[in-house]
Amino acid sequence: AIPLVVAINTSMAARNGILVRDRIAMEDARNLDSIVFDKTGTLTEGEHGVVGQATVEGVDADETLALAAAVEGDSEHMIARAIREAANERGVDVPAAEDFEALKGRGVRASVDGREVYVGGPNLLDHLESDVPAELQSFADDAGENAQTVVYLVREGELLAAFAMADVIRQESHRVVDALHDLGIEVAMLTGDSRDVANAVADELGIDTVFAEVLPEDKDVTVQELQDQGKLVGMVGDGVNDAPALTRADVGIAIGSGTDVAVQSADVILVQNNPMDVVRLVKLSTASYRKMQ
Ligand code: ADP
Ligand code: MG
Repeated sequence: AIPLVVAINTSMAARNGILVRDRIAMEDARNLDSIVFDKTGTLTEGEHGVVGQATVEGVDADETLALAAAVEGDSEHMIARAIREAANERGVDVPAAEDFEALKGRGVRASVDGREVYVGGPNLLDHLESDVPAELQSFADDAGENAQTVVYLVREGELLAAFAMADVIRQESHRVVDALHDLGIEVAMLTGDSRDVANAVADELGIDTVFAEVLPEDKDVTVQELQDQGKLVGMVGDGVNDAPALTRADVGIAIGSGTDVAVQSADVILVQNNPMDVVRLVKLSTASYRKMQ
């Protein structure tokens, strides 16, 4: 039988838009030492618009944007949507592409006019063993300092252009970090995005620990590392990429607007898509289980 006080508080949680799938996790929430947040779409709005472009000398800027949009044609990623929208706004002719392939946590590749073209971030460049050319370096540095995500266009091993995209920090994120600190909980951020962007967002929010350029398959390892330090760890995320980390965490928390996979991997679901509900969850757990002792 479900103890009465738990039943009452689970329904109280539900009324607050907090769906509890695992009651043990709900009980653990009051003892969390550390909460790890996914960055994009959780702490930030996750709406990237292209705000800048740099192209290597001798290459046409519109042509590279069109090429990037072609390669991104098949991707659902927010970055892909932003690039397609920019191409649309600039009115460029997007060529046909085939053999699309998503490189998880890195970018995308496709074939255009029989040539192999990639679009992706620093993780992609590592993978291709490609470097940012000197003439694009200051563009990339400036974008990074402004917390803009940069992706690169590489055709047949040649890096042709860089695109900077802006995301905005969610208004509530400031209050969430402050409130968790007040509760004595350490706040960490986990992202596949570049170190520059991650640090800029973390500085702005006062986040304690940053894990950046983490590949999707390594996100759960990061949670495990914190657990190995003896910490009880919560994880908040929305994406397919976050699912293993949500499963690994002592308390996996999915943002309700997230993907089905994230929601199914979580112990708790925040229906209202408000990160402030993470704080409410901890407080509700404390209030509920104190009464039982
Ligand atoms: P996050 O952890 O922020 O949710 P992802 O794991 O989805 O990020 O992506 C990590 C990084 O991989 C992005 O910041 C970007 O550099 C690159 N990337 C992923 N998908 C794409 C794409 N469709 N186009 C370009 N770059 C991409
Ligand atoms: Mg995400």
